[in-house]
Amino acid sequence: MAGRRLVFRPRVLTNAQKRRLIRERDGDDCYVCGEAIDFELEPGTPGGPSLEHVIPRKMFGRDQPDNMKLSHTQCNRDRDYAEIGDDVLDSWRKQTRGQA
Ligand SMILES: [Zn+2]
Repeated sequence: MAGRRLVFRPRVLTNAQKRRLIRERDGDDCYVCGEAIDFELEPGTPGGPSLEHVIPRKMFGRDQPDNMKLSHTQCNRDRDYAEIGDDVLDSWRKQTRGQA
């Protein structure tokens, strides 16, 4: 199913529903560290699932599947936004083009 394009209506879907859809698309591996996420754990516990915005909301990243991946909650917290790469910034430029 890789490459399948999803579009959310953010105010309609719960976070649990979003997590399930992203998991169906991407599988069980953490976007940050590559290790499997334990979906039996409660979201918000360190080894449990967390929805990660590739481009952070504070950088106007969209609440849409193109900008969302799954990570461990702890990995999400530990991620250093200073390490955002050029590929992400290019994606950000594309997403925000025409919206200014
Ligand atoms: Zn991780």
